[in-house]
Amino acid sequence: MPHTALLRDVFGFDAFRPGQEDIVRAVTKGQNVLAIMPTGGGKSLCFQLPALMREGVTVVISPLIALMRDQVRALQAVGVSAGALTSGNTPEETDAVWEALEQGTLKLLYIAPERLAAGSSLGMLRRVGVSMIAVDEAHCVSQWGHDFRADYLKLSLLHELFPEIPRIALTATADARTRTEIISRLQLEEAGQFIAGFDRPNICYRIALKHNAKQQFLKFLKDEHANDAGIVYCLSRKKTEDIAHWLQVQGFNALPYHAGLPAETRADHQSKFLRDEGVIIVATIAFGMGIDKPDVRFVAHLDLPKTIESYYQETGRAGRDGEPADAWMIYGLQDVIKLRQMMEGSDGSEEHKRAEQHRLNAMLGLCEITSCRRQALLGYFDDEMEHACGNCDCCLEPPQTWDGTEAARKALSVTYRTNQRFGVNHLIDVLRGAENDKVFQFDHHRLASHGIGQELDNNQWRSVFRQLVARGYLSVDLERFGALRLEESCRPLLRGEETIQLRVDVKQKTAKRQTKTPLAADVDVALWEALRECRRQFAEDKGVPPYVIFHDSALQEMCVNLPQDMNAFGMVSGVGERKLEKYGPAFLRVITDHLA
Ligand code: ADP
Ligand code: ZN
Repeated sequence: MPHTALLRDVFGFDAFRPGQEDIVRAVTKGQNVLAIMPTGGGKSLCFQLPALMREGVTVVISPLIALMRDQVRALQAVGVSAGALTSGNTPEETDAVWEALEQGTLKLLYIAPERLAAGSSLGMLRRVGVSMIAVDEAHCVSQWGHDFRADYLKLSLLHELFPEIPRIALTATADARTRTEIISRLQLEEAGQFIAGFDRPNICYRIALKHNAKQQFLKFLKDEHANDAGIVYCLSRKKTEDIAHWLQVQGFNALPYHAGLPAETRADHQSKFLRDEGVIIVATIAFGMGIDKPDVRFVAHLDLPKTIESYYQETGRAGRDGEPADAWMIYGLQDVIKLRQMMEGSDGSEEHKRAEQHRLNAMLGLCEITSCRRQALLGYFDDEMEHACGNCDCCLEPPQTWDGTEAARKALSVTYRTNQRFGVNHLIDVLRGAENDKVFQFDHHRLASHGIGQELDNNQWRSVFRQLVARGYLSVDLERFGALRLEESCRPLLRGEETIQLRVDVKQKTAKRQTKTPLAADVDVALWEALRECRRQFAEDKGVPPYVIFHDSALQEMCVNLPQDMNAFGMVSGVGERKLEKYGPAFLRVITDHLA
């Protein structure tokens, strides 16, 4: 069967997503491939579909049990013979996998890297005939990246043992250093490289100033995501628990997740997130890799991520189904200080710390820009975008700017005159002419800077200092508890050779993405609910998350197109032959009942 027919009949999709088709073609031809695609871009299909076209079994290496189980379930749901060998298997599951292997019916075998080295697996693979090797989350092989897995180094066994078998490595991590490392460790020097565009147009990016984090977040949730599934990222374990608890008190179904929780609790919270609808996970960065829940409607950052890479990866977990989703973040000067402290305290080399610092600065730059955020984000990954996107806060509500040259000069000079030994609060006191103990203690009431900044209030000054730090004119001295220091780059500004435009901080940002809910305006809510109920029952019977039955987008299409026979139902995106047969009649009944 040609690949477009498989796409339609087995997976139920009308068209390939950007990049998929080229990769599928190359893999099917037996080429080695390195595929880089954004999170949610549809990487799995790039090896799942070719697996069906080749004789024998495709071996998929994947770092997480949850991820493997999810994919196996989704494949089985569309009628593809797939199995996983993981430490999480019941003996029956393992037996079933072996049996399918022996009989030669299994098309995809998921296996954890540590399992490969175990010996017996390799012998077995040699016997059954491997048609293709797929390495998912291939960046785990890179010691430079943050998800490094020692077991991934053992993957070299595979190409040594099966040099003739085509390999495909997939990742969402784009930076050049990681890519080079993947290529050399997996011996993909000759492989075709496919880099799909990084844009995720359905995600609306919003970054606002933090003033009352909880109230701001609550408003966002209540106004826009009252019943939606989402992920909230915080920096510390304790904070994830506090926020989850507070959300529960506010009536949300929220659960914490961090590496310090017992393994059972983590597994339980993760599976609730996947299975139940509308669960909010409040997590540290320990949560996320391998979570391919398609209907996450928002990702919120209550603390600043350390790098644009992390920000992009974490926000990329929203809206994998292609429906509108939000990446929402609030941040303030305190976040910057906290992060710098953490970096300073880490035990990496000086070079490593400098690199981290550099990356944090890029992240800050993204927070403070006044032009399109998506353009800046994509630009960071060398993916140029010609026009502003129209779906980020800067595009939806262009920020006001003001000429901050005079204020910036005052801020820089008070920093200099107090010998670069004081933090932002004291500097603002001096500028505003405060007469308190600390000012007298250091004789700062005698400085020329004392009282020259009455024209701005406390918050406005904080905003000036924050932006000066974010833009690298000032840095935070951690040896001295957050004292501000001048950086070389501030000279032209101090000398009056440069001017600076600053952002006006708006207290309550109201920018919203255009489509508020995944429901189109003309959808009948009663039908939508009835279809969801039908889906929920199937999901419960089979013990799978609802999206394994149908995505929200498929239900939505049913609401709009109102198919009334099997033929029409089969045209809905996400309905392949298997699902048509299994679920078609029940869903059609819901629709016809509703129309009657
Ligand atoms: P990732 O690249 O993050 O691994 P996945 O492979 O999990 O992404 O795919 C993300 C979602 O997109 C999945 O729910 C998948 O079913 C869906 N998807 C993949 N390819 C297509 C397509 N061609 N058309 C529609 N949906 C697709
Ligand atoms: Zn934009």
